[in-house]
Amino acid sequence: MIIPNKEFFQNLPPKECSKCGTVIEEMADCYYHQCDDCLKEVK
Ligand SMILES: [Zn+2]
Repeated sequence: MIIPNKEFFQNLPPKECSKCGTVIEEMADCYYHQCDDCLKEVK
């Protein structure tokens, strides 16, 4: 079954930081699964 891209993305849950659970807004560096604050702590 082929799902149209539009519906597929709408069904995706909001991307959350794996550390603090903050919803991450779309960014260029979308490889990370943590929010800016947590990334800063790591680095
Ligand atoms: Zn975080």
